[in-house]
Amino acid sequence: MDEGVLSVLSPYSRLKSAMGFPGVDYLLFDSQLSTGELLVRGTARRFVDERVLPVIRDCYRDGVFPTQLIPELAQLGFLGASLGPESERYGCAGMNNVEYGLVMQELERGDSGLRSFASVQSALVMYPILQFGSEEQKSGWLPRLCSGQAIGCFGLTEPDFGSNPAAMRTTAVRDGSGWVLNGEKTWITNGSVADVAVVWARTEDGIQAFLIDREVTGFTTHEIHDKLSMRASVTSSLAMVDCRLKASAILPGARGLKAALACLTQARFGIGWGVIGAAMGCFETARSYTVTRKQFDGKPLAGHQMVQEKLAGMITEITKAQLLALHCGRLKDAGRLEAAHVSMLKRNNVAIALDCARQSRDLLGANGITGEYSVMRHLCNLETVKTYEGTDHIHALVIGERITGIPAYR
Ligand SMILES: Cc1cc2nc3c(=O)[nH]c(=O)nc-3n(C[C@H](O)[C@H](O)[C@H](O)COP(=O)(O)OP(=O)(O)OC[C@H]3O[C@@H](n4cnc5c(N)ncnc54)[C@H](O)[C@@H]3O)c2cc1C
Repeated sequence: MDEGVLSVLSPYSRLKSAMGFPGVDYLLFDSQLSTGELLVRGTARRFVDERVLPVIRDCYRDGVFPTQLIPELAQLGFLGASLGPESERYGCAGMNNVEYGLVMQELERGDSGLRSFASVQSALVMYPILQFGSEEQKSGWLPRLCSGQAIGCFGLTEPDFGSNPAAMRTTAVRDGSGWVLNGEKTWITNGSVADVAVVWARTEDGIQAFLIDREVTGFTTHEIHDKLSMRASVTSSLAMVDCRLKASAILPGARGLKAALACLTQARFGIGWGVIGAAMGCFETARSYTVTRKQFDGKPLAGHQMVQEKLAGMITEITKAQLLALHCGRLKDAGRLEAAHVSMLKRNNVAIALDCARQSRDLLGANGITGEYSVMRHLCNLETVKTYEGTDHIHALVIGERITGIPAYR
């Protein structure tokens, strides 16, 4: 940046321009974080700056997940990070929920695909095993999942049932002491690279969950290609054709769809934090771009009122999203966070992140559509984040039911 531009910058901008990724802290948000929380965020931030950002553009272009980062994610304690004191027996880090949220935020500043990997592994695979599994399942899988030696996936969605998983067709029928599964799951993150799949199926006792080892006969996976979003993430379909499982494959405590929804609530909490990272990344790209790019008489773009109005709107929404996430995190640590609260967190924060990504893309003009800047990649990713883990419509209906008492899903 040249001296002339620096001289027109505010103290805020000068400070931000002199550092690496500075975060977004307009309202002294950091003053609400403990030393431990700041330390965890700092570690995740450095990891993303040094290890993720240098490779993610190529991964996204090539449609590959950066597998080489899995051992590092594990070493930093980011897999199964906040699953409570019992999880520490299996090697998990035992972070609080705000620390976990801050990790998700930083990972998604890197890429939503990376955060999705950590979310699925932690909230949709390790959480149900810890919460609903037998001791044999816990000690068999959790240390391996936590250390990144094994990868997991969560199979709920089917080709004909996404928002309404209660209508799923996959069945599990008793066969002697074991089970036979038939059905198909699709849009499954990590599906074709997973060592273990948590698969939800209809039994004579209602919907239940099974742990399927990838080697089991009758179980196959197929990677979904040609995605224009979440390109640095593996997405697959799973097929179960007369897939025979031992009795020990059932997750004994996972009874009914409410068990699956409990897992989704964990994951949605992480998404509510994660997308703040994508929004922060987009905001910072737009801020630094517009203070340096000059149009009309050598004036920086950021010196124009309409540009400032956009930047002001973005930082305001990011700040509100941070406060909502922090409040939800504190409630979760106090055992008071409910699924309907998480619906508000996920729905609001994804919406503002998408809006920030769109506005940032706009402020970068033609450069905004290139891979050189991260904004278009974030924008495309966030379209998926809006859809998965309950679409924005479904979360509006959850909130609507909470405030009216009237379910309006049908
Ligand atoms: C990249 C990616 C990764 C994913 N990872 C996983 C995973 O790991 N595991 C997994 O199980 N699933 C996964 N999913 C699937 C995801 O959870 C579903 O796509 C999501 O639940 C929506 O289902 P659907 O796509 O079938 O859309 P539909 O349910 O068909 O919805 C289509 C549209 O209709 C709207 N709609 C539906 N019902 C209503 C209603 N009652 N009122 C108003 N509007 C309504 C929706 O909001 C949406 O706008 C993933 C999806 C993607 C894209």
